[in-house]
Amino acid sequence: MKIAIVGAGVVGITTAHELAEAGHAVTVFEKNGAASESSSFANGGIHCNSFTLPLSASTFTGHKLRRFWQTTRQMSHSNWATPANFRWLWAQSSPAEAAKVCAIQSYGQQMARLGMEVTDTLISHHQWEIEQSEGQLILLSNEAELNGYSARLQFLKDAEQNYRLLDREEMEVHEPALHGADKIFKAIHLPGDRVMNCRQFSLLVKQAAQRNGVDFHFDTEITGLQAQGKPQVRLKTGDTQSFDHVVICTESLPREDVLKTGLQTSTARIDSYALSAAIREPLNAPRSAVQDCRSGITITRIGKRLRVCGGAELNKSGTNEHDKRVVNKLFRTLDQYFPGAANYPAGTQIWRGSRTFTLDGLPLVGSAGLPGVWLNLAHGANGWTLATASARLLSEQITGQSTSLPSEPLSPQRFIR
Ligand SMILES: Cc1cc2nc3c(=O)[nH]c(=O)nc-3n(C[C@H](O)[C@H](O)[C@H](O)COP(=O)(O)OP(=O)(O)OC[C@H]3O[C@@H](n4cnc5c(N)ncnc54)[C@H](O)[C@@H]3O)c2cc1C
Repeated sequence: MKIAIVGAGVVGITTAHELAEAGHAVTVFEKNGAASESSSFANGGIHCNSFTLPLSASTFTGHKLRRFWQTTRQMSHSNWATPANFRWLWAQSSPAEAAKVCAIQSYGQQMARLGMEVTDTLISHHQWEIEQSEGQLILLSNEAELNGYSARLQFLKDAEQNYRLLDREEMEVHEPALHGADKIFKAIHLPGDRVMNCRQFSLLVKQAAQRNGVDFHFDTEITGLQAQGKPQVRLKTGDTQSFDHVVICTESLPREDVLKTGLQTSTARIDSYALSAAIREPLNAPRSAVQDCRSGITITRIGKRLRVCGGAELNKSGTNEHDKRVVNKLFRTLDQYFPGAANYPAGTQIWRGSRTFTLDGLPLVGSAGLPGVWLNLAHGANGWTLATASARLLSEQITGQSTSLPSEPLSPQRFIR
C-alpha cells in the first residue's frame, strides 16, 4: 500500500520505519528542513516504564477540586487562567474514579514496556551505539511527597516493577555527586528506568527507514487533507498527492480547517523548557536521571551533556519569549544538586518545546474517523518512551493484524460522546 506520514519527529520516523518493514511504500512529509527539530529535539531523554514523569497520566483519586488544584499547581506561567485553559483543566480533573485511573496507569506502563522492548530490539539488531545510562532517582523532601506517591508505588508493585525507597546514604551509592542529600527526606530508585538520546535514536531510525525505501520530503508543509475516496494530502505549493492511507504524526492535532476531527477540546499544549550544558567535571555530574518531586524538574546526563527540563506553560501562544523565572529555576536546581558539574561558558542551550496532552494522558493512536486517515500524536509527557510502541500498534491496525496491546484505550474517538 502507498502510505503518507505527516511529520518527521520521533513518532513519525518510527511509524514510517514500522510500515516500511511491513512492506509498504512510505513517503514522509516534514515542514522543517530536517528530522526531529520540534518536540523530539532536546527532551529529557527519560525512557521509562515507571510512567512517573511529571504530568504523566492522572495517578491520584479524590475530590475534583483537589485534583484541579494539584494540576494547576504544576503550571509555571501565571497567565494560564483563560476560559479555554480553565475548561481543559477542569475537564482533566474529572475521571477521578480509582478503577479508571488505575486502568489508565496500568495501560501506560504496559505501553511503555512495549516501547522499551521495540526500541531495544532495533538498537541491538542494528548494533547502534546510543548515548544512554541506567536508573532514575526521584527526590522527595518530606513525608507528604512520599504519601503523594503511594498510589503510583502500588501500581509499580502490582506490575512487579522494581523500585526501592532509599535513605540518604543509599542515594549516594546511586548518585555519588548528588549534593545536599542531608536536606532530602527519601528517594525512590527506579532501576529499570533509563536515559537515552531521543534525537540520536530518531536520526538512526530515519537512516534505516531510508535504506528500506522510505522517501523523506523536508521543507514540505501539508496544508490540507481530503478524505473522499482515497485520502489526498495538499502541499503548501498547492499540489495534491493521493495515498491509500495517511498517518498524521504532527504531535498536536491539526487545525480544524485542515482535518475536521471534532477532538480539539480533548487536548491541550503545554510548553516546557530544557537547558543543555556541557559537563565540566564528570565526577560532579549525575550518572543518569534525577527528578526533583517538588518542582517536577528532571536532570539527566546525555552523553557529554547535562539536560535540565521543567516548567509547564499551558497554551502559551503568540510569543517566543522565554519565561526567565523558569529558566533561572532550571539553573538553580542544577547548581543545587550538582554544583560544578556544568561548563556553562562552553555553550549553554535553552530550548522551549511543546507537549500535547489528552485528558487521560494517553496518546491518540488509531483511526481519525475518516477513511484511510490515522492519528499518532498527543503523547504528552512520555512521547519518547512511547514512540516505538505507538508506531507498532498503529502499523498493526493499518495492516489489519491483531494488536500487541488493546487499541481501544488509545482510540482518538474515546473522548467523543
Ligand atoms: C522539555 C521536554 C522534555 C521532555 N522529556 C521527555 C522525556 O524525558 N521522556 C519522554 O518520553 N518524553 C519527553 N518529552 C516528550 C517527547 O519529547 C515528545 O512527546 C515527542 O518528542 C513527540 O514526538 P513527535 O514526533 O510526536 O513530535 P515532534 O517531534 O514535534 O514531531 C512532529 C513533526 O511534525 C511536523 N509537522 C507539524 N505539522 C506539519 C505539517 N502541517 N506538515 C508537515 N510537517 C508538520 C513538525 O515540524 C515536527 O517535526 C519531552 C518534551 C519536552 C518538550
